[in-house]
Amino acid sequence: MHSYEKLLLQNKAWAEEIKADDPEYFERLSHIQTPEFLWIGCSDSRVPADRITGTQPGEIFVHRNVANLVINTDVNLLSVVDFAVSHLKVKHIIVCGHYGCGGIKAAITKTDYKYVLNMWLRSIKDVYRIHRDELDGIKNNEEKTNRLVELNVQEQVQNLAKTSIIQKAWQREHRPDLHGWVYGLKDGLIKPVFEMKAGTHIDPLYEYDV
Ligand SMILES: [Zn+2]
Repeated sequence: MHSYEKLLLQNKAWAEEIKADDPEYFERLSHIQTPEFLWIGCSDSRVPADRITGTQPGEIFVHRNVANLVINTDVNLLSVVDFAVSHLKVKHIIVCGHYGCGGIKAAITKTDYKYVLNMWLRSIKDVYRIHRDELDGIKNNEEKTNRLVELNVQEQVQNLAKTSIIQKAWQREHRPDLHGWVYGLKDGLIKPVFEMKAGTHIDPLYEYDV
C-alpha cells in the first residue's frame, strides 16, 4: 500500500466513527459554517489548529503559511481575512506562531534560499530590524530565536490592524479582537503573547477613513 492510500483508509474509518456516534453530523455541517475564530498559523505540520485547541470542524476558519505572516500584498491571506471578517463575522482572529519555527530560523541566517523563499522570509528580517536592540542583547541563540517568534506574532497582529478590513469592522461592529499566540512544540502549550482589542488606537499614519 502507498503511504497516501493509508490516508484515504483512515478517512473512511474516521467518517464511519463519527456517523456511528452522531448520524446527522455531516448533514448538519454541510449546511452552514459559523466559526467564531479565524486562525492564521504556520504551515508546519506539527501545529494543527483544531487538534491543539481541541476544536471540531466548523469552529475555526484557518489560513496557514510559512511563519504565519500577514503581508499587506498577499491576496490569498487578505481574501481569507475579508471573508472571515465581513461575511463569517468572526469575533476573534488568532495569529499563532510556534517556538522552533523553521521559517524564523531561516530568516536570521545569511543563507540564500533563492527567489521565492528569500522574498517571503524578507519581512521577518524587518521584524528583527525593528526589534534589533532587544534581540541583539540576547546571547543564547535559541532564546533569541524564540523571542523573535514572539515579536513576529506581535508584528503580524499589528499588520492586521493596519488593514481597512479590520478598521472597518472595528468601527462598525466593534469586532474582532486580535490575539498573538505562540505554541510550544516541546510541551504542547499555547502562550498568549500579545493582544489588540477591537478599537485599539493605532498609529494614525495607518488609519483609513472607513
Ligand atoms: Zn513555523
